[in-house]
Amino acid sequence: MAEQAQKMEFKSELKQILNLITHSLYSHKEVFLREMISNASDAIDKMRFDSLTNEAVLENNREWKIKISVDPQNSTLTISDNGVGMTREAVIENLGTIAKSGTKEFLDQLKSADASSRPELIGQFGVGFYSAFMVADTVTVTTRGAGQTDGVRWVSDGQGEYTIEPCEKMSRGTDVILHLKSEEKEFVEPWKIRSLVKEFSDFIEHPIVMDEETEDEQKTKTVTEETLNSRKALWLRPKSEVTKEEYEHFYKQISNDFNEPARVIHYTGEGVLEFKVLLFLPSKKPFDMMFGEVKSGPKLYIRRVLVMDHCEQLLPQYMRFVKGVVDCSDLPLNVSREMLQQNPMLEKIKNNLVKSVLKNLEDMKASSYDDYVSFFNEFGAFLKEGLSHDYANREQLSKLMLFESMKTEEKKFVSLAQYVEAMPEDQKEIYYLTGESRDLVAHTPYLEVFKSKGWDVLFMTDPIDEFILPSLTDFDGKKLTAADKSDVSLPSEKESKEAQKEYAPLFDVLKKTLDQIKDVRVSTRLKESASCLVSDKDAMSANMERIMQKINQGGEVKKTDRILELNTEHPVVIALKKIFDAHADDARIATYAQLLYDQAVIAEGSKVKDPIAFANMINQLLVQTAGV
Ligand code: ADP
Repeated sequence: MAEQAQKMEFKSELKQILNLITHSLYSHKEVFLREMISNASDAIDKMRFDSLTNEAVLENNREWKIKISVDPQNSTLTISDNGVGMTREAVIENLGTIAKSGTKEFLDQLKSADASSRPELIGQFGVGFYSAFMVADTVTVTTRGAGQTDGVRWVSDGQGEYTIEPCEKMSRGTDVILHLKSEEKEFVEPWKIRSLVKEFSDFIEHPIVMDEETEDEQKTKTVTEETLNSRKALWLRPKSEVTKEEYEHFYKQISNDFNEPARVIHYTGEGVLEFKVLLFLPSKKPFDMMFGEVKSGPKLYIRRVLVMDHCEQLLPQYMRFVKGVVDCSDLPLNVSREMLQQNPMLEKIKNNLVKSVLKNLEDMKASSYDDYVSFFNEFGAFLKEGLSHDYANREQLSKLMLFESMKTEEKKFVSLAQYVEAMPEDQKEIYYLTGESRDLVAHTPYLEVFKSKGWDVLFMTDPIDEFILPSLTDFDGKKLTAADKSDVSLPSEKESKEAQKEYAPLFDVLKKTLDQIKDVRVSTRLKESASCLVSDKDAMSANMERIMQKINQGGEVKKTDRILELNTEHPVVIALKKIFDAHADDARIATYAQLLYDQAVIAEGSKVKDPIAFANMINQLLVQTAGV
C-alpha cells in the first residue's frame, strides 16, 4: 500500500464533456442520483449474471444492495453497491476515457442544446457517471473487483486530471463518494434522497437502502436500514395497476430519453411459453439514433434476473427504436449468453413482439392519427427499412406508410389506403414519382397528364424510398407504377400512334444526333412542356442514379439510356418538324435536338452535361430571332 497515488489525465474529448458539465447551469441536476443508482444496479446485475455459471466468484457476498449514506458534517453523499466492482485497469478504462462513436457530434449538440436539456443528453450519451460533477466538486471512487484482494481509489475534481492508487477495501463492490459543492448541500437531506429515489428509481429491482436513526422513549438511538424503493418489477404487475407516471419513469430510466413515450405496450404472451412484455415506442428519435451505433432489442429477463441488456434475437434490426423489457420464465437461466441466444424460443417470442408492435402502430394510426404522423416523421425511415427487409410483414408495413403527394399540402401525408380510396374509376394503378425534394418533383413535366386527369401521384422524396420500391410492387391489388417510366399506361395512346408514324423520319434523325438516348417517342404525358426523358420499366430511375452517384462518390455509375419523349403539340416541336420537312439536313436540327434533350435533363432534376454549350446554343438562337 506504500505506492504513490498516480496522476493521470482524462482523454481530451472527456475533458471537454467534463468542462461542459461543471461549467454550465443545469435545471435537472438531481438526475445524477438516478445515474449513480443505475450504475450500481448494473454492476449488481453483472455480478449476479456472472455468478450463475460460477458461483464461487460471489464469495458469499450475495445480499444484493445499493446503499446511500449521507454525511452532513463532511457534506458527502455516498452510493455503495456490492456489484462486480472494478480492477485498476477497468477504472482507467471506464472512468478516464470515453470510447464512444459519435462523441464529436455529441459535443456539438451539447453545446447548442438549451441548458435544460443538457443533463438529459449527457445521460443519453452514456456518460452518466460524470453527471456527478454537476453537484460535486470532488468525486472519490473506491472499488474492489470480483476475485480481487485489494481495492483501488480514484479521485478527481473533474478538471482534467484524476489520481489513482491502491487502497484497502473490505469487500467486493464500489463506493462512489460525492463531496458536494457548497450550494448543493440539500443532497445530504434524507427526505430529499427519499423523494428522489421514489421519483426516479422506485422500480430498481435491488433494494436501495439508507440508514435511519430512531429514538425511543428512553432516548436510546437505534439505526435501522430503510428500503427506499418499492422494487416492484413493473412488467410483472397487471396493466390496470400501473400508472402513467410509473410507466413514464420506468421508460426514462431504461431509455435515457427525456420525452414521454408515444406508446406503452404491456401484455403477457401466452401459448407454448409464457412471457411478460413491456415495450415502449418513443416519441422522439433519441440522440444515439442520430449519431453512433444503436444496439437493438429489449432487455431480457428470466424470472426477474436480467440476463441481457439488448437481446438482438428478440426484435429485428429495423425495430431498434423500440425499448423495453421481456421477461420469460420458460427460458433456462444457467446457461451462457451464447447458448441462450441460440434458443429457438427466442424466435417465437420475436415473432410475437413484432406482430404486437405493428399492431400497436396500426391502432395508433387509426385512433390518434396526429400522434401517428409525428411518430412517422421521427421513425418512418425505420419502418421503410422494415418494408425492404421484413418480407413476412410486408403487407402490414405497407399499411403504415405515409407519403406526400401531388394533392397533399407540403408536409401532409396520404396513406396507400387513402390514395386507393380516392382513385377515380378510370385510374387503375397507383402512381408515384421519386426525387430529391417535393419542390423538384412537383414541377416535373411528368405530372402534366396526371394533373389534367385529376389522378394523384405519390411523391417519394426520402432517399430510402428508392429502396422500398422493390418490396412495394402493389397495394390492395393495384400496381405501383413510376410516373416517369415508359410503361405507364396513359390515355390517348391511339392518337399518339398516328403522330408516331408521322414523326418517324424526324425521330430517326434525332436518335442519330443524340447518342445518349435509346429512342425518341411521341409523348402522351406532356401537356405544357416540349420534352421529357423516361426510363424503361426495369431501368434505374434518374433519382436512383443520382443517389448511387452520391454513394459511389467520384466512381462512375453507368447511366442508363433513356427515351426522349416529345410533345407533338408543342410549338417548338412543331417548328422543328417544319424545318425538317423543308430541309432534312438543316443545321438547326442538331441544335434543336440538343436543346430539347437538355431541357428534359433539367426537368428530371439532373444536370446538363455541358452548361456552356447549352448557353451558347440558346444565345445563338436568340441572336437568330433578333435577326441581327
Ligand atoms: P454507462 O453506465 O452508460 O456505461 P457511465 O459513465 O455511467 O456510462 O459509466 C461508465 C462505466 O463505468 C460503466 O459502463 C461501468 O463499466 C463503470 N461503472 C460506473 N459505475 C460503476 C459501479 N458502481 N460499479 C462498477 N462499474 C461502474
